[in-house]
Amino acid sequence: MTTNTVTDTPVDDVTLSLWHQVQNSADYCVKCNICTSFCPVSNVTDLFPGPKYVGPQAQRFRNPKELSVDDSLDYCSGCGICSMVCPHDVKVMEMNAKGRYKLYQDKKDIPIRNRMLGRSELLGQLSSPVAPIANFFLNNPLVRILVEKIVGVHRKAPLPGFSFETFRGWFNGVHKKSPNYKPSTDKRVVYYHGCSTNYYEPHVGKAAVAVLEHNGYEVVIPEQVCCGLPMLSNAEFDAARKNACTNVESLVKYARAGYKIVGTSTSCTLSLKSDYLHILDYNTEESRLVSQQTYDICEFLLDLYDAGELKTDFNPVNITVPYHSPCQLKAHNMGLPAIDLMELIPGVNINHVQAECCGIAGTYGYKKEKYQIGMDVGKPVFDQVKQINGSLAVCDSETCRWQIKGATGAKMIHPVELMAKAYGLI
Ligand code: SF4
Ligand code: SF4
Repeated sequence: MTTNTVTDTPVDDVTLSLWHQVQNSADYCVKCNICTSFCPVSNVTDLFPGPKYVGPQAQRFRNPKELSVDDSLDYCSGCGICSMVCPHDVKVMEMNAKGRYKLYQDKKDIPIRNRMLGRSELLGQLSSPVAPIANFFLNNPLVRILVEKIVGVHRKAPLPGFSFETFRGWFNGVHKKSPNYKPSTDKRVVYYHGCSTNYYEPHVGKAAVAVLEHNGYEVVIPEQVCCGLPMLSNAEFDAARKNACTNVESLVKYARAGYKIVGTSTSCTLSLKSDYLHILDYNTEESRLVSQQTYDICEFLLDLYDAGELKTDFNPVNITVPYHSPCQLKAHNMGLPAIDLMELIPGVNINHVQAECCGIAGTYGYKKEKYQIGMDVGKPVFDQVKQINGSLAVCDSETCRWQIKGATGAKMIHPVELMAKAYGLI
């Protein structure tokens, strides 16, 4: 009997098959190079030979007992565009993530910088109580030069500021329910806020709670930890698996009781939906149930609208705004629900930015050796944001918001913030 590597519990055939599907998908590659023509990284640097080369081609030479075949794999940003565009469903990004894990295992050395960037939750826990001091140092150019030289985080990397007030502190303390909230036993939803909302952008969580309560939902916020994606993308699979396990154990009770789990961070929800299963190989009855019950918040709200259950008492907001759809959002394969929702608001004109990736890819663009690649990848996004409305733009992913703000100076908001404003809730 095979056991799951996270829980040591027996697993069934479905469990076994998911990672094998990823691995075996290399055999379906017909070398058409579509993925390479879409890869934002190989299009701007010669340091990365592209998805076909480091993905399905190299996969055939990745023997677990031999050293990794190619260090250039580390330049893959993990954006997932290759997996999305491949006409033969080759799981290139997933393969690359696993290949990167092996690369660092072989080297027996994950840099301190990568471990630090993988721990956004720990950084938030340590810095939020002293946010004004931490932010002062974060914004000090001399400190940033030192950090770049000693740690390897680029001096201009768009690091977010810490919030003194945490989202959970607000929710469990001063939060008052929306005036229109009427309790109903069949309208309950779990909110997975993740680290960015808790420690960096509590205003996004406040807007989400306000919109959900305005639509009559009771919002439940269970214990949770970082989704693990920052650790996963920095090749710390064991640490990421621990977090995945903690989250699934906490959320599965709600999933079993029929609660939907919604999140405002599109990368966190993608981790719960897909990465735990397909990359971390954490595939149990519990993790599958949590995956099935997880929704991006805009996906959830648009479903409500389609069912005739979303309130549309929006005040007009006369504005033209650029909207960037993050790679992680597109990987949900759910269309672009944020656009459909925001266009319900009278006066709102959404201009969808026609470019693939902003270049930050989680923590990729923070790294000294990758910062410029990230900026070159994101240039078409930055140019269009400046052209459409350089003062305000909308995006569902926190790290993309920080990157676009850093490059353009535009104020960045989550779609749910625009909805909360139009409802008159913030
Ligand atoms: S991975 Fe897919 S898109 Fe890329 S070369 Fe192979 S078949 Fe074509
Ligand atoms: S995940 Fe993104 S950066 Fe990596 S190979 Fe695929 S398209 Fe290129």
